Amino acid sequence: MAIVLSRAGVLTVDSVDRYLPNADIRIVGTTIEAIGAAGTLAQPGDTVIDCSEALVTPGLINVHTHAATAFFRGLADDRTREFWSAGYAVPGQARFTVEDHMVSVRAACAEFLLNGVTCIADRLGDMDRIAPVIERSGIRALVGHTITDKRPDWKTTDAVLERFGTDPAKRVSAGIAPHALDSCDDALLREVARRAEQTGARVFIHVAQSEPEVLAVRKRGHDGALACLIAAGLATSNTVAAHALYLTDAEFEAWPDYGIPIAHCPASNLKIEARTLPLARLVGRVPIGLGTDWTVTNNSMDLLAEARLAALVGKMRADDPTVLTVKRMVRMLTIDGARVLGIDRLVGSIEPGKRADLVVFDANRLEATPAHDPASNLVYSLSPRSVRDVLVDGELLVREGKLLRDDETTLARSQRYLGREPASEATG
Ligand SMILES: [Zn+2]
Repeated sequence: MAIVLSRAGVLTVDSVDRYLPNADIRIVGTTIEAIGAAGTLAQPGDTVIDCSEALVTPGLINVHTHAATAFFRGLADDRTREFWSAGYAVPGQARFTVEDHMVSVRAACAEFLLNGVTCIADRLGDMDRIAPVIERSGIRALVGHTITDKRPDWKTTDAVLERFGTDPAKRVSAGIAPHALDSCDDALLREVARRAEQTGARVFIHVAQSEPEVLAVRKRGHDGALACLIAAGLATSNTVAAHALYLTDAEFEAWPDYGIPIAHCPASNLKIEARTLPLARLVGRVPIGLGTDWTVTNNSMDLLAEARLAALVGKMRADDPTVLTVKRMVRMLTIDGARVLGIDRLVGSIEPGKRADLVVFDANRLEATPAHDPASNLVYSLSPRSVRDVLVDGELLVREGKLLRDDETTLARSQRYLGREPASEATG
């Protein structure tokens, strides 16, 4: 049996960014089988979903998350840079247990789905326990167990690699996740490169996210963060670098020669470093996707808001309102994010043969009207409240704004009181 999204406006994000004002999309199993004229693709027995008052886009791809820390939201606003670079510790974090992480990650995945995010690249410690919960949510994910030179936990990394494999054709697959250039010494970084080569795993790492990190790298004899990656054998298109805030002019200039994809997290960067990378300078020269990072430094999981922020702050940094166009930002939300994760042959656009990771936006919400330019609306006026239906791998996970595998209220209740003292619980 197939699902047909019928009579939809479709932002395909294909190679020529075609917009189809009135089309059918037929989904068989996990895959988009056909795209055709409105009303032509449904066969007897198909589930037909009326999209005549909807906009269908590829699922949004969030390339940098720490989903299991959702319960930190609101715990550390307005802090100094030094507060963060001292170790990214959240006040009172010790009171949260691994079990709390597992409650929180389920809630976070649900929140992502309700926001139209169909794929996350997620990393944290205890990933052997967290990743199965991510898997049960139905979202697409690349997961990595965080390692540092103080905790070079290859046992758990290997367990996660073995359990999920490195083939991104699986809905959940695994990568290798060294924490950052200062928390991982050169020997560990070289070992990461060796094992990535051996297993085919993608590497996820924070790069140049603070000044002290770059200072530490220089103390080890490297001429900056990029030189450190090069020396370790990690300056390749297989490494996803999150943030890349503190690179020199020369490094930004040289970066595209190595094709290292970047996870750009403007809200998190602005909140804790009051800084972003010069997006307009790099865009189109290396794959760049958008990330919401963790809730303590963002505090939202809204990727559309991230795109808007990236465009507007990027225009300001470039001192040029013509850069970071609507078309470019739509690609950054979708196909470019897929390129960052090495999964663009599978997802990121609406084309026959690709996985059916799709978002259906309600075109009857005021913020969706008028629809002179649906792509412009997606970047500049739509929000998670416009998300009507969400499919991942052809499975409906959100229908009419409601989760199908979970219940939003139950998840919110289970997360609301995590880590609270009983006294504050009593007062709500
Ligand atoms: Zn991060």
